[in-house]
Amino acid sequence: HTRTAGWNLANSYSGLPELFFTKAKPAQVDDAQLVVFNSLLAETLGLKGEELQSDEGIDWLAGSKIPEGAEPLAQAYAGHQFGHFTMLGDGRAVLIGEQITPQGKRLDIQLKGSGRTPFSRGGDGLAPLGPMLREYIISEAMHGLGIPTSRSLAVTATGETVIRESEQPGGVLTRVASSHLRVGTFQYAANWGSKEDLQLLADYALNRHFPGSENTGSPYLFLLRQVIDHQAELIAQWQLAGFIHGVMNTDNMTISGETIDYGPCAFMDIYDPKTVFSSIDVQGRYAYGHQPGIAVWNLARFAETLLPLLHDDEDQAVQLAEEALSNFAEVYHRNWVAGMRAKLGIFMEEEQDEPLIENLLEIMEKQKADYTNTFRALTRDRPQDTGMTGTVTFDQWLKQWQAKLERQEESKEQSLQLMHTANPAIIPRNHRVEEALEAAVEKGDYSVMEKLLGALKDPYAYTAEQDEFAEPPEPTEQPYRTFCG
Ligand code: AMP
Ligand code: MG
Ligand code: MG
Repeated sequence: HTRTAGWNLANSYSGLPELFFTKAKPAQVDDAQLVVFNSLLAETLGLKGEELQSDEGIDWLAGSKIPEGAEPLAQAYAGHQFGHFTMLGDGRAVLIGEQITPQGKRLDIQLKGSGRTPFSRGGDGLAPLGPMLREYIISEAMHGLGIPTSRSLAVTATGETVIRESEQPGGVLTRVASSHLRVGTFQYAANWGSKEDLQLLADYALNRHFPGSENTGSPYLFLLRQVIDHQAELIAQWQLAGFIHGVMNTDNMTISGETIDYGPCAFMDIYDPKTVFSSIDVQGRYAYGHQPGIAVWNLARFAETLLPLLHDDEDQAVQLAEEALSNFAEVYHRNWVAGMRAKLGIFMEEEQDEPLIENLLEIMEKQKADYTNTFRALTRDRPQDTGMTGTVTFDQWLKQWQAKLERQEESKEQSLQLMHTANPAIIPRNHRVEEALEAAVEKGDYSVMEKLLGALKDPYAYTAEQDEFAEPPEPTEQPYRTFCG
């Protein structure tokens, strides 16, 4: 049988104890307009694009109407924000339900910026249009790069005014994710729930994300290990792509291993581990080079929540947790080195590979080289485009690298092919993202954004149309700054 617009919503999350959520309806908006729509994603969700873009569809996407089968709710969670523990919850987001796709996947459909909930505290529950468009661009760019992430199905302009430093148009993002379970959800359960609540949450997470724990002896240790592995793989991919999340609070770290909560995130231009874009991160806690360490810190908070489930004896539970956490470094490092080898066309693994990689990064940092474009130049077999040829250190590095490639059985052609799969020609450059947002929000011109989104669909394509998006920003005295929205 057919369902309206392809909606096929389930609500497994509301089967958890009531302490984990509150029923909440999105706010009504009268003059919503659909401004961006992801037809390809709609299709993979089993949703009918045409119907979603109709008047009724726009009401669903803006939150004014609830699709058939939906039981909207706001999720409860806690989290460490810049190291300080606090109660949070969806203050400006509502989970509409879980869409079961034609492939049988279960994906959360969430409206972000859809009005107040019982978790809003002093907030207005709203989101300015600009930051919702920004999340759309960056999350879809991450997907194009092959990095696990929440997705963006649509943005509607609500036609209402949101008050920040200035008055801004409001927006609602339809976010799609494997789930919105966070480290912070477990922290909430551990602090305000019973052991049974915690166990039900852990069973739910296992069932939803990591089935197959039945024969592992200890399902909750399995859960801990899986989350650690997936996060280690994810953070390695962030580092390889030069992505800076900007606000790695524990409520923004998923159990699924997807990137989530695009606020003050941005991609690095010039290679520098100290890079920070977020205006609120004055200490540089979430700087590019700190991300792996912060991930371990967050995962330690996750491990702590699981202690009562790991072992009846607390000392033994702590020991199991510590052993599991010590794996992060190994998994992260293995993934990062493998990624770097691919970025440099290396098939044959040798001890010298790591010093070769580290050496290049050191030179890039000293020479203030653009991170993405250095690898792009090597991939295009144009080392002169790095801007570093003619310097003793880089020329020497180049010789070592070329000698390394010659020692391999594989041809140079094969190396370049491998590099094309690992080095994006383009990333969502901050100045291009700003340009697209300005045209959209200030002039209602979405063509700039559509063109950028088109180029970012396959960042590894190396087409001529992408070249303009590869240009780094002009050097300015003012560093680029991002805000939470
Ligand atoms: P974030 O920094 O986006 O991870 O948000 C941290 C917490 O603040 C989350 O629980 C959000 O739901 C909540 N929050 C952020 N902005 C608002 C807002 N405008 N109104 C209500 N709650 C908000
Ligand atoms: Mg409740
Ligand atoms: Mg958040």
